[in-house]
Amino acid sequence: MWQGPPPRGMARRPTRVPGVIPMAGNFYSVRCSDCENEQTVFGKASSEVACAVCGTTLARPTGGKAEIEHEILETVESR
Ligand SMILES: [Zn+2]
Repeated sequence: MWQGPPPRGMARRPTRVPGVIPMAGNFYSVRCSDCENEQTVFGKASSEVACAVCGTTLARPTGGKAEIEHEILETVESR
């Protein structure tokens, strides 16, 4: 069922590799307000991110930063 590109573990586990600067921005742990599924969403998603369980749109691109219309549980800085 898991379809999002960022692996779930990235939200919980600080993966800091010295010398490597990831190009990614922030990730957010978002709780779907429809089914309460928790899902990690890339903060600069360039396409709509749908809930893996119920298909509700969790985030939509706004030309740079994704707009998240659901409860953000956690912000994960990926650097
Ligand atoms: Zn959902």
